[in-house]
This record gives sequence, structure tokens and C-alpha cells, in this order.
Amino acid sequence: MYRTHDCGALSLEQLNQTVTLAGWVQKNRNKGFIVWIDLRDRYGITQLVFDEKRTPKEVFETAQGLGREFVIQVTGTVIERESKNPNMATGAIEVLVEELSVLNTSKTPPFTIEDQTDGGEELRMQYRYLDLRRTSVKGNLLFRHQVSMAVRNYLSKAGFIDVETPYLIKSTPEGARDFVVPSRMNEGQFYALPQSPQTFKQLLMVGGLDKYFQIVKCFRDEDLRADRQPEFTQIDCEMTFVDQEAILSQFEGLTRHLLKEIKGIEVANFPRISYEEAIKTYGNDKPDIRFGMKFKELNTLAQGKGFGVFDSQELVVGIAVPGAAEMSRKEIDALIDWVKRPQIGAKGLVYVKCNADGSFKSSVDKFFTHDDLAAWAKHSKAQAGDLILILSGEVKATRTQLSALRMELAERLGLRNPKEFAPLWVTDFPLLEWDEESEHYHAMHHPFTAPKPEHLELLKTDPRAVKANAYDLVLNGNEIGGGSIRIHDQQLQSQMFDLLGFTKEEAQAQFGFLMDAFQYGAPPHGGIAFGLDRLVAILGGEETIRDFIAFPKNNAGRDVMIDAPAPINEEQLNELYLKSNSPPKE
Ligand code: ASP
Repeated sequence: MYRTHDCGALSLEQLNQTVTLAGWVQKNRNKGFIVWIDLRDRYGITQLVFDEKRTPKEVFETAQGLGREFVIQVTGTVIERESKNPNMATGAIEVLVEELSVLNTSKTPPFTIEDQTDGGEELRMQYRYLDLRRTSVKGNLLFRHQVSMAVRNYLSKAGFIDVETPYLIKSTPEGARDFVVPSRMNEGQFYALPQSPQTFKQLLMVGGLDKYFQIVKCFRDEDLRADRQPEFTQIDCEMTFVDQEAILSQFEGLTRHLLKEIKGIEVANFPRISYEEAIKTYGNDKPDIRFGMKFKELNTLAQGKGFGVFDSQELVVGIAVPGAAEMSRKEIDALIDWVKRPQIGAKGLVYVKCNADGSFKSSVDKFFTHDDLAAWAKHSKAQAGDLILILSGEVKATRTQLSALRMELAERLGLRNPKEFAPLWVTDFPLLEWDEESEHYHAMHHPFTAPKPEHLELLKTDPRAVKANAYDLVLNGNEIGGGSIRIHDQQLQSQMFDLLGFTKEEAQAQFGFLMDAFQYGAPPHGGIAFGLDRLVAILGGEETIRDFIAFPKNNAGRDVMIDAPAPINEEQLNELYLKSNSPPKE
């Protein structure tokens, strides 16, 4: 037996017992006549003591030479500590060691295995197995486990069954590029890794499985904007004989369960807003509603008064920043510079200070009267002490800019409290988007999403106006889930592929299997998928998903530990009927 207890188990309850522990040497404090060692494993740290007078000589000498991260096994007696550490579960005791065996030695680790480590990200990723020994990283993985178990329990209780779907498949269009895998047995042919199990879960519904879920890897080859991973995990779900309402209520239930179970927080019914309203009110479709600062359009009030900047624009829109009227000129100038940065791209920023005495001070005092500004303030729901910030320009760009400004101010004012959770549903997405470049419609969600039944006719006359039975679940400014009611009618699906610019042959070649299936009694169905990595990070109060993934990839999509991707040799290339254009890297 390697151990009788783990390193987090012992307390005064085991006083005077003989115990055996195994673990890693976290710290070795050698005072010459006494050696203290912190022994670590997944469960905690136990202090070992080796005393020149009481420990066998050989054991004592070996203990003096133990380096960091050596793996050892000790047997000894649990004794009471003289100076107790109330912050440690095992802080009341130590183990006076009688027997010691070194199970393995260790090179000096390249960074300190402590919460506050001296290792930079790249180095820690290269030695991720050492990084994992740090309490914080390990804690994140335990937390992730807790979340996924809570998900599994909830869904299983609700009648969902966990079904695995294949990874070597054909393209599923979720809007990204596919990762492809060449087939050795089929010359010149390729599998695609799933961007999601979308078509398979629909086929499971055709197969009569009724309620499906899977915690599953998905693969998307996209430029890795901040905090994305080429492979990530979804909680993927699908249900039969449901309308949108049934799905929203089921998955609101799941989310509420997680918040309760994991965070101990009860959330009332989730608010719902339409996509259109979200864009109009927050400038984006994943609004953070932990704070206000809703957009107020000021066109009617602010145009036609001789201020050319506003008069010529499509949209004049502002937000009231709570309690910010006291910002200094310098601070406001800094904000103006912030919105003018190329990443934001605004031309300028108009401000109105709503002073405590009811007066206003603005950057456009020359053009507008006190009454004008009072009307803006009223419309913007600004209180005395607030600062109104206004942008103007082309509708879409201006909203995006103001959305960025709103988030930035919330950050600066500390309104994005990671301990607060504000979920909401965004519904009624447009079915299609027009893409100027390809001159085709794109599916806003994916090509299997059903239009609202009342918009079926519009599909022929004005596709842009068609809304979908599609929804996103948003939490604290992040889209954590999205789904839709699906098309289950072969003709409608075929019409959809048509609109998306597929020829009949292309649609048949790529999705013939699905359209065939739809001819054999496909039931109405719909579903949703949650991004597990992001969900866990948000519940954990963090921003980066990498921290919650055991072996993440870096921003260039590389695993720096195993050094992948990597070239393959000529023989493998030949076997796969591939030719490499670039010489293999040395
Ligand atoms: N397959 C979709 C996605 O990955 C989710 C869904 O529609 O259920 O976003």
C-alpha cells in the first residue's frame, strides 16, 4: 500500500497514529538538526518533520538531501504541531517520520510550483504537467469537473441520454473553416473534423432518441482571436417534439441549476430580448446586463439645430454614465482619444455633464441651449451627477463603437462584478445575413435553422426580413449557448441550401444524407449547444478559458508542450497521397 491517507486528510483526530503518506516535496527547510518538508498531493499539504534526535540516522540524512518535486513515501507518527497554521486543513499536526523511501527524484523544476509562480505563460505551457501541480490550476480542473458532473446529472435526470457521435466526418458548416484529415484508404479523400455534431444530433432525433446530450469536442479552424481554442468543448443537446418555448425553459432550468449548485445563487426568470432590441439597446447581441447605460437614440432631439457633425449622420446615440459628471477634462480627453483609436474608430465624442445643481456643461454648448441638453438628459434617463456620452455616424459602426465604450466604462467603474450573474435570452435572430463579398446569403446560425413559420412566405419575397426560431443564452456579456428549432422538411431544407448559394448537386453531395433522412418521417426537433470552456470560466469568475483546459493551445494554435502541429515524413505523406509544398522544418 502506497499510503494510508492523502496529504489533505490528517488532523488532531489521528493524533499518535502511524500513517503512511506519498507525494511530492514542495519545500525542504533544513535547519541542520531538524528538517521540515511540505509534502504535497492533489488533496493538500502535510508537514513532515525529521528530527536528528528522534529520526533514524539514515532517514534523517536522506531527508536533508531531498530536492523540490522528489516523489517520496513516508511512514511516521501524527504529532501535534507547536505552532499551528489555522489556514491549512492539516495545520494542527505534523508527521514525525520514521521510514522514508524515495520513489523518484526530480530535476529542479523550471519554475516554482506555487500559486504565485515565477514562470511565464509560455514556460508553464511547455511544462504543463508541472503547472498542473499548482493549486490554482488544479483547482480550475476540479471546478470544471464539478460543473460537467452537475450538467450530466441534471440532463440525465431530465431524460437526456449521452450519445457519442463520430469525429471523422464531413463538413458541418458552423461558419468556420474545417480541420481536415486525409484518408489513407481512400486516395485523395478527406474527412473533416466536426465543427459541431449538428447533423448527427439531428439524425439521432430522426432515429427516435428523443433527448440527446453530449459533452463533446468541436474543431474550428479560425484565426484565434483573443481567447479561442481550435478545439473546444460543447455541451451539445437536442430534443424532439419541442417548440422554442420548451427548449428555453429546459435550458434555463439547466443554467439555473448550475448557478445554484455551483455558486449557490438563485436567479429569477431570465429576461428575454429580441436580437433587434439587443442591437438597438446595447450595440451587440450579447449584452452585459449587470449594469445599465442603455443606448438612447437622440436623432430627433439633437439634429436640425445647426450642429453639422450630428446633422449629417444616420445615428446620434448616447449613454448616461452613472456618477461620472465629475470626470476631469483630462479624463474626458483620454476617453475621446480612446474612442478615436483605430481599434474603435470613432471620429469624436460629445459629452454632457449633468451637474448636481441642475446645470449642464457640454462640449457642444455653442450649439445647444440648456433646454436642449435637459431634453437629452431626460431622454437618456440621466440623473444629476451622470455624464452623457454621445457618438454619431453610420448606424452599424456607431453602435459597435458605443458598445465598446459602454463595456470599457463599465470595466473602469467596476461594474463588471465577476461574482454577479446576469443571464438573458436573445431571441428572434435574422435567419440570413447578406455577404457583400460572396454575394450570397449566409446562415446567421447555421443552414439547418428553421425560419419562423409565419415568415415562410417572406423567404421567397424578402429573405433578409425573415426571422429564425433561433436563440442565444448570454451570461455577463458572453454568448454561452446558442441553438434553434430545426428544419425537418426536406423541401424547406433544400430551399434553404438554394438561398445559401449551394447548387442542387453541391447540396446533394454535402448534405444528401440529411435530406434523405428527412424523407423518412423526421420529427420536429430543436436544440442548443453551450460552450463549456467559457461557461466554466465565467462561473469561476475568470476571463480566460485556457485556465480551465488541461492542455490548451496557444494563440498560434500550437501545443508548445508536445510541439504540435509538426511536419510528417515523406513516407507518411506518400501514404496519404499528399505532397508538401514547403520543405519540412528542421
Ligand atoms: N451546432 C450549433 C453550434 O455549434 C448549436 C446548435 O444549433 O445546437 O453553435
